[in-house]
Amino acid sequence: MAENEDLAEKEREKNRVAMPEQEPEERRRNFEEVPLGYTPEMAVAEASRCLQCKSPTCIEGCPVEIDIPAFIRLIKEEKFDEAIRKIWEKNRLPAICGRVCPQETQCEGRCLLAKKGRPIAIGNLERFAADSAREKGLKDLSPKPEPSGKRVAIVGSGPAGLTVAADLLARGHQVTIFEALHKPGGVLVYGIPEFRLPKEIVADEVESLEDQGAEIRCNTVIGRTITMDELFEEGYDAIFIGVGAGLPRFMNIPGENLVGILSANEYLTRANLMKAYQFPEYDTPMPKGKNVVVLGAGNVAMDSARTAMRLGADSVRIVYRRSRYEMPARAAEIHHAEEEGVEFLLLTNPTRFLGDDEGRVVGMECIRMELGEPDASGRRRPVPIQGSEFEIPCDLVIIAVGTGANPLLTRSTDGLELNRRGYIVADPETGETSIEGVWAGGDIVTGSATVIEAMGAGRRAARSIHERLTRDLQPSKSVED
Ligand code: FAD
Ligand code: SF4
Repeated sequence: MAENEDLAEKEREKNRVAMPEQEPEERRRNFEEVPLGYTPEMAVAEASRCLQCKSPTCIEGCPVEIDIPAFIRLIKEEKFDEAIRKIWEKNRLPAICGRVCPQETQCEGRCLLAKKGRPIAIGNLERFAADSAREKGLKDLSPKPEPSGKRVAIVGSGPAGLTVAADLLARGHQVTIFEALHKPGGVLVYGIPEFRLPKEIVADEVESLEDQGAEIRCNTVIGRTITMDELFEEGYDAIFIGVGAGLPRFMNIPGENLVGILSANEYLTRANLMKAYQFPEYDTPMPKGKNVVVLGAGNVAMDSARTAMRLGADSVRIVYRRSRYEMPARAAEIHHAEEEGVEFLLLTNPTRFLGDDEGRVVGMECIRMELGEPDASGRRRPVPIQGSEFEIPCDLVIIAVGTGANPLLTRSTDGLELNRRGYIVADPETGETSIEGVWAGGDIVTGSATVIEAMGAGRRAARSIHERLTRDLQPSKSVED
């Protein structure tokens, strides 16, 4: 009997419960979410694999330090409402993180079972707990705190700004979020496509912040519509900058101005935020493309390629100058793209774009590459193979080779210290910047990173802002968090 139990235990360790998904043939032409979510039975089975370690290392892998073994134990005991409450203690956006966190390098990468190759599906379980709560209408509404009388302006409504807002509201401060676009959510709404992150989930999170008293002012560009100085003049006691890093980079090669070549940022914004995929129901034109080429191999490139496939392309090719091993996208996203028919042209770099008489892109000249010695990034440097040029036909090119800091706010704000790449210099522990009363966090400080890292920065900044505002209220006392 004991031997049987031992065998059953070993089986459990191996058998990670797979998340059901839409079939590739079906999903490659629709925008519905690809992974379908666990059933309660699947969640309990997966939760039962957790070893409940005494000194769990997975928690260290989570930037917001969710008590992972505790919420997993609650799922195993079928206490789903308690499981989500345990997660909410640390994470305001679990339905989002469960879907888009790179768990393999974060929490799941530190799970002891990862050594055997089958870590607990922490992200899937987090998503399950969050989705069951949403289905039941369960909300994370903590009792309303005493109003502090302090007002904070938050610039940017991405995960960093939303986290600062939630944490400050919970401490009794009044917050106003200023957003340049017409919808709040940052990359969560304009970048990550519907088939990876349904927009109603982000809308729910924003709505719950509004229920708690947050004011959101869209279509307001700070640095242009209103300056930072004017925000202080309006009476805000502190400002948090979370404007992200959305300035697209280009290849700087001949022909880049041809019609039919655009940045992934513009392409995805049209598709996601402006719902161009529902044209003509939504009034946004969208270059569709029959033979699409996507340059780059990160998550943004995979999202662009998979969007192009869904918009009806005959062929979609990812062109990347390094090898498969160096591709920065999550393994799961590469796998999904391949299953949906996206092709990969690796160790290949474009040298110029080719146009027709009307100035439209019709092709691209490429050169083959080989890998040399490691460069500053630690990855092997791609070196062109002379004489290996060849042409590929294409009528739409999407450039997804990275983004940089948007200079609009940063350059128009006197005294704001920037690093040489144009990102804001902020204290990593507190988010304080060179200007008294101004904090910053998320991609505008670190460069393009992850949702959960932006949230972690938002949490640290909110704690520091609260300390400062409370110290101002009670100058002689030290304030506990
Ligand atoms: P953002 O999300 O960029 O939000 C900044 C907001 O500020 C935007 O809404 C912008 O409009 C607004 N803003 C900018 N300037 C101003 C101004 N002057 N005034 C007012 N508002 C302004 N991360 C993951 O963890 N997993 C993924 O799978 C993943 N996939 C991604 C896919 C794509 C296509 C992209 C682009 C990114 C992806 N990321 C992913 C990265 C992740 O989304 C970002 O790291 C994260 O959103 C950064 O959050 P943030 O709050 O700093 O900024
Ligand atoms: Fe893992 Fe992200 Fe959830 Fe933390 S928030 S437990 S890193 S999936």
